[in-house]
Amino acid sequence: MALFSEEIEHIREEAEAKIKDRLQLVDRIVDHNQWKVIEAFQSRQVSDFHFAGSTGYAYNDRGREVLDEVYALVFGAEAALVRPHFASGTHTIATALFGVLRPGDELLYITGRPYDTLHKVIGKPGDGTGSLQDFGVSYRETSLTADGQVDWEQVESSITVATKVIGIQRSRGYDWRSSFSVASIGEMVRRIKAIRSDLIVFVDNCYGEFTEELEPTEVGADLIAGSLIKNPGGGIAETGGYICGRKRYVDLAAYRLTAPGIGAEVGAMLGTTRSIYQGLFLAPTLVGQAVKGSIFAAAVFETIGFTSKPAWDEHRTDLIQAVSFAGPEHLIAFVQGIQKAAAVDSHVVPEPWDMPGYEHPVIMAAGTFIQGGSLELSADAPIREPYIGYMQGGLTYSHVKFGVLKALQTMKDRNLL
Ligand SMILES: *Cc1c(COP(=O)(O)O)cnc(C)c1O
Repeated sequence: MALFSEEIEHIREEAEAKIKDRLQLVDRIVDHNQWKVIEAFQSRQVSDFHFAGSTGYAYNDRGREVLDEVYALVFGAEAALVRPHFASGTHTIATALFGVLRPGDELLYITGRPYDTLHKVIGKPGDGTGSLQDFGVSYRETSLTADGQVDWEQVESSITVATKVIGIQRSRGYDWRSSFSVASIGEMVRRIKAIRSDLIVFVDNCYGEFTEELEPTEVGADLIAGSLIKNPGGGIAETGGYICGRKRYVDLAAYRLTAPGIGAEVGAMLGTTRSIYQGLFLAPTLVGQAVKGSIFAAAVFETIGFTSKPAWDEHRTDLIQAVSFAGPEHLIAFVQGIQKAAAVDSHVVPEPWDMPGYEHPVIMAAGTFIQGGSLELSADAPIREPYIGYMQGGLTYSHVKFGVLKALQTMKDRNLL
């Protein structure tokens, strides 16, 4: 039984042939990162007993301590803090920032407006929420240049004696800009340290982990953070986040997560340890599957006349694939098609709705095992010009292909192709 029409099968074959060499490059990155992760496990002699849960204060939980060491090795960092107690990526990033910033200090983001959920973390002076600015940490950001680069003139004139932390967001998030490769982040670190060597460079690493051979901490970033329900959780970790970087900054983040004087020494893992280890073990390969899926999606949508960002043959440093569609009908068919391909909740039909905090209706496809888990295939789109759909993740390459072809089939059924 043919699942898809002949025309769609033809588009698929053409795309698969076109991207063959590109997928081989992904395999090289997967091998590098998979071996790096295994070697980190081996060097710390990870054993079955490390996976046992802990209760109460959980002093001397060896599984938790070794997990931090393994993460530090993988990310080429002095120290790491990997915990199920981080409720989300936003919570993890907030913990890192509150850990190192003090009243009177300034945070300067140099990659334009940060990810949406961080706006309330930064907050406003006197907003009464306990945001950074409410606590007397000031905030500035510099916009990107017209071609999406850091505006160094603006950055240099914005750095003052109060500036303490420089913020960099690796992934485009849900903006129509390019993401920053690890090499370009290394170059940013070099330029920042030349301005003032004591500036702390923080990188929001969400969606970036294992898409390249190096991580920002391996090219000089002082502190990075990310979510375990994205890349490094490997689709297995049920919740949590990680922070890696220089030991004194990771310690400060740990004081903020628990309490000063306690830091990383306590924290019951509640049976999550095995899944966090196993997720890290799987992550390089699963990220590779998702990246292959994004390359396929970019090639297919370009073939039928839409604009993909990144293009199928461009360098990749995160999981997000953006596609600009012709109008709302195509965009909605795309998101609904992705949902139809899910193993979980394929029978529900996503509709645009007025989500709190957004100016336009938003439509989302998320048939996932982990709620909101975005290493799993998912798609989101605000219904507004220029009708950009964002797709990310996919635990298997085959699933992403299924999703993209379902999206085409949905467009075809509605006479949009
Ligand atoms: C997902 C993401 C966040 C926030 O993570 P949540 O888990 O959604 O809170 C922050 N920054 C970037 C770039 C992200 O992709």
